[in-house]
Amino acid sequence: MSTSLPKTRLFVAEDLGPASVLTVGGKSAHYLLNVLRMTAGDRLTVFNGRDGEWLAAIAAAGRMRCELALEQRMRTQHAEPGPWLLFAPIKKTGVDFIVEKATELGAAHLWPVLTRRTQSGRVNLERLQAQAIEAAEQCRRLTIPAIAAPVSLAALPAHWPPDRRLIVLDERGTAPPLAAVIQDGARRHPTMPVGFLVGPEGGFTASELDALTTLPFLSAASLGPRILRAETAALAALACWQAVAGDWGQ
Ligand code: SAH
Repeated sequence: MSTSLPKTRLFVAEDLGPASVLTVGGKSAHYLLNVLRMTAGDRLTVFNGRDGEWLAAIAAAGRMRCELALEQRMRTQHAEPGPWLLFAPIKKTGVDFIVEKATELGAAHLWPVLTRRTQSGRVNLERLQAQAIEAAEQCRRLTIPAIAAPVSLAALPAHWPPDRRLIVLDERGTAPPLAAVIQDGARRHPTMPVGFLVGPEGGFTASELDALTTLPFLSAASLGPRILRAETAALAALACWQAVAGDWGQ
């Protein structure tokens, strides 16, 4: 990764190509012009998840809009396959934390799951998407994790892709250690992608866990002897995966 890139990165929806000129308005323009106080001639990079990352200069700056002139492509687009994270929505700040950390830790897909003890069934997908974009800009990802609409735990098996393993984080202390479950899975199915499922503050019910462990694509795993907060468990599982089988080893 080049260190000569400007620190400021902006995710945009438009296609990116040589000599493109983008018009940026709304919150992005406010961020560049009023928060960062950038002016004409200042440089940043832009990415859209499809066309790589481009160096751009502020060509013109108005009150709440500015034009960005693309100069050169600094990074070519590449796939950023990563684990999926399924989580029971917890309190607002906790969900924001999960989305931000999961994005930094390379999660490719975030999926809220409504379980028996889920506190809040309402999830503001737009806010979570904005959270993911901000985290992706900061951590230099080239893609934004997809955030799916909530699904009930009971309906999950019918929507689960058969070519992906699901590892449920089971705090009862009876499941094998997560690192071993990941290593064993990587040995037996080296190319099979994974997803992690974290329960709500009150945990899964015994009947939920019993039903889950009958699913062919599912494994249960422990994150050690301490009971972690859901957001800690999500973070720890993704970090463990990246360290054992993910891109931290590259
Ligand atoms: N039922 C717990 C609280 C649940 S913690 C209690 O006794 O208070 C929220 C979620 O984090 C759990 O459902 C589980 O998915 C995950 N989790 C927390 N600690 C864990 C551990 N030591 N091992 C595996 N998963 C854990």
